[in-house]
Amino acid sequence: LTQLFRPLDMLGMVYRTIRQGLIDMAEMFRLLDEPQEVSDRPGAPALVIRRPSVVFDNVVFGYEKDRQILHGLSFEVPAGRNYAIVGPSGAGKSTLARLLFRFYDPQGGRILIDGQDIKEVTQASLRAAIGIVPQDSVLFNDTIGYNIGYGRDDATQADIEEAARGAALMGLIDRLPQGFQTEVGERGLKLSGGEKQRVAIARTLVKNPPILLLDEATSALDTRTEQDILATLHRVAEHRTSLSIAHRLSTIADADSILVLQEGRLAESGTHGQLLRAGGLYAEMWARQASETDELGEAAE
Ligand code: ATP
Repeated sequence: LTQLFRPLDMLGMVYRTIRQGLIDMAEMFRLLDEPQEVSDRPGAPALVIRRPSVVFDNVVFGYEKDRQILHGLSFEVPAGRNYAIVGPSGAGKSTLARLLFRFYDPQGGRILIDGQDIKEVTQASLRAAIGIVPQDSVLFNDTIGYNIGYGRDDATQADIEEAARGAALMGLIDRLPQGFQTEVGERGLKLSGGEKQRVAIARTLVKNPPILLLDEATSALDTRTEQDILATLHRVAEHRTSLSIAHRLSTIADADSILVLQEGRLAESGTHGQLLRAGGLYAEMWARQASETDELGEAAE
């Protein structure tokens, strides 16, 4: 943390960027439960985004010296595209997200955003460029309006309302006795998992980041709510570059491309249709999930 306090001229915009970085870090730490291990290079410039592409170029990484997790992972998400990451448990999906947020530096290869090596730019600017919608969001013991606007100091009431609309929260807020001023959290209104996730989406909309990292819910929500949330997420991801870590394949069938990770390598990639036709790991995972869903359906009947 000391490096955040080192320069004395971090005011205005810069201060806000850092605060934003901290908010996302807090969110991500909670999400991923990880310590921070990297620091800014002295004099590092801010990330400048014109076309927010994301490139992993032969990335090699392990948490411990003698155990490599990613073995030369390469892929590119072109600016404005929505990609999904799938793969068996332990394949390295969360690790990839941690590296993109620069919680760790790779031992080999590079990660580029809009052509800039993320190791060479300030972490604050990197983290300001990436919005995260985690599976389960923490709300502060404050009003619902505060919870939506948190993340951008200069958010106006109009920004907050627009974000609430974008995240399909207005129905709920209109029903609340004190609207945006209603207290949520421990001492106030209890929100459902789906509502909390919508608050997280609205918070991300207020921040308006060019890149989104979505950690799609595993099974916390009922199907109807899940469909609604997914539709909202897809709308939010439109016109942005997004990477969704998906657990259930049915939710990402319309991704521009699906990256299939296996044991720290890119096993295959392509659209849902292409991957099904290829008859590889994805097709196998798809068949397995489909039969599980059928079994669940039959069991419920
Ligand atoms: P899941 O779908 O189960 O969440 P994943 O694809 O996201 O899995 P990762 O969490 O990236 O997988 O883990 C990849 C590998 O790295 C696993 O073998 C895991 O045990 C290991 N790993 C993850 N975090 C750490 C850590 N902090 N220290 C050491 N090893 C770790």
